[in-house]
Amino acid sequence: MLRLTDIKLPLDHAEPALADAILARLGISADQLRGYTVVKRSYDARKRGAIVLIYTVDVDTPRAPELLQRAQAETASARGAGSPIKLGPAPDTTYKFVGRAPAQLPLRPLVIGMGPCGLFAALVLAQMGFRPIVLERGKAVRERTVDTFGLWRKKVLNPESNVQFGEGGAGTFSDGKLYSQISDKQHHGRKVLTEFVAAGAPEEILYVSKPHIGTFRLVSMVEHMRATIQALGGEIRFSHRVDDLLVETDAAGVRHVRGVTLAGGEQLRADHVVMALGHSARDTFAMLHARGVYVEAKPFSIGFRVEHPQSLIDRARFGPQAGHPILGAADYKLVHHCRNGRSVYSFCMCPGGTVVAAASEPGRVVTNGMSQYSRNERNANAAIVCGITPEDYAAYGEGPLAGIALQRHWEALAFELGGGEYEAPAQLVGDFVANRASTQFGEVKPSYTPGVRLGSLDASLPGYAIEAIREALPAFDKQLRGFAMHDAVLTGVETRTSSPVRITRGGDGQSLNTRGLFPAGEGAGYAGGILSAGVDGIKTAEAVALSMLTGSARA
Ligand code: FAD
Repeated sequence: MLRLTDIKLPLDHAEPALADAILARLGISADQLRGYTVVKRSYDARKRGAIVLIYTVDVDTPRAPELLQRAQAETASARGAGSPIKLGPAPDTTYKFVGRAPAQLPLRPLVIGMGPCGLFAALVLAQMGFRPIVLERGKAVRERTVDTFGLWRKKVLNPESNVQFGEGGAGTFSDGKLYSQISDKQHHGRKVLTEFVAAGAPEEILYVSKPHIGTFRLVSMVEHMRATIQALGGEIRFSHRVDDLLVETDAAGVRHVRGVTLAGGEQLRADHVVMALGHSARDTFAMLHARGVYVEAKPFSIGFRVEHPQSLIDRARFGPQAGHPILGAADYKLVHHCRNGRSVYSFCMCPGGTVVAAASEPGRVVTNGMSQYSRNERNANAAIVCGITPEDYAAYGEGPLAGIALQRHWEALAFELGGGEYEAPAQLVGDFVANRASTQFGEVKPSYTPGVRLGSLDASLPGYAIEAIREALPAFDKQLRGFAMHDAVLTGVETRTSSPVRITRGGDGQSLNTRGLFPAGEGAGYAGGILSAGVDGIKTAEAVALSMLTGSARA
């Protein structure tokens, strides 16, 4: 099989045009093309009036050896001239397990957290026969949905079952974007996507360049994956919060995990514990730190959600081809480096979606975004955030958990500014840039359902972040026409962009100072997003399996 990249065709090309382009590019006749599979389809919208589709295809032809030789010779002769390789052998992306569990397992591995990281760690461990036990503090996804809507519609927060906590993790009520910029030489991302398709995701996620699933499908997919883990001998316990870690120090002074204690006091023994907590498990981070597990502060970002009419974003990105069904609702990605040394960027953009209440602690307001598969709500939303570092947290507390203190401070203030009932403070972009309080909405109606309270956002974030975002919005307008439209709405605050801590691990996937503890996913600082968290879950399952097979975590 050959992989042929960079085939460009007009947006409205007829179906046979792709096969014709393959024949022309390879210089073969139709009877020599046994078949082909599209492995990637992206678009180039830099010329708005002439958007092109770009394909990568795997081609089956009896002339493969000769064509490969020719391509290699051409590449060699063009070396130095910067000519990209457009043809090569198709890589083998099938997933290969690192091992198989022995018939007798002395102790089963524990997986704490059932977000995408824990889900994939548990699935792959179960597929290898290790029969993991998953402990998830939140509820099963359907019950969790009821609780999540409780905050959005009735302003009632359940601190153990919400947007952040429960089966499926933080990504369940989301846009379900499934792309990432991680380097993935072993094709673990392919395994994530393939398992998602087996669980009910649309097949197109395997080849479109920016796949997304939307929130409704994610719910049933997560249930499907749960059933697979159980059928393979895994066990899943909801409403089981891990409150403590059992650690023993051996004669050589090496610390080993020996199990966990649950909120009800029950203890579970295990020598291999995956900690896939997500970025909002603040109490569990504090417990790990108190138990002496190595934790350090890491940078993250804070800012607001911005909402524009989706039609404005479509026109700015796609010009006359706005609304084309292949292109769908347009997204964007913006960055601005500010005079005060900060960077402001757009994050977690949700085309045709809604801004959601994403708090997990009482008395705090946090924003995020989600959408359905159709992405056909009126507004586009994205976080507009300013990067911050551990030096910025020093004023809020000491030690590795100071970033959490900073988050809590600004989330509590947003709660107050919003009126104390989970409504969020908001301001129109035009007023924010002009530094005057907003008093009424214009063309854009905010979608944040507990409701928003208009005014000034100036007091809702540190001064340097306000200054940076104020500078960035007009700069973004130069990159995406209309972005600084007066009536666009900013809603605050967005503080959970990534984990404020890293639970640092070594090359074997284990905590730097606690053997048998495998920190993983977004909460541990090793992923950002559904796909990368899933990939990290797979890598962690491999590390656990290798450790269990070689006994490397035991004394
Ligand atoms: P999480 O998904 O956070 O899962 C951690 C799990 O651990 C939770 O279920 C939690 O209940 C559980 N847990 C925590 N502490 C304990 C404990 N002590 N005991 C037992 N269980 C515990 N990413 C994308 O790629 N695309 C998107 O479109 C997207 N949209 C998003 C929209 C929203 C509203 C939110 C909140 C996030 C979104 N994200 C998106 C981010 C994405 O959801 C996360 O990056 C991803 O879920 C991280 O996966 P994880 O498994 O590491 O952690």
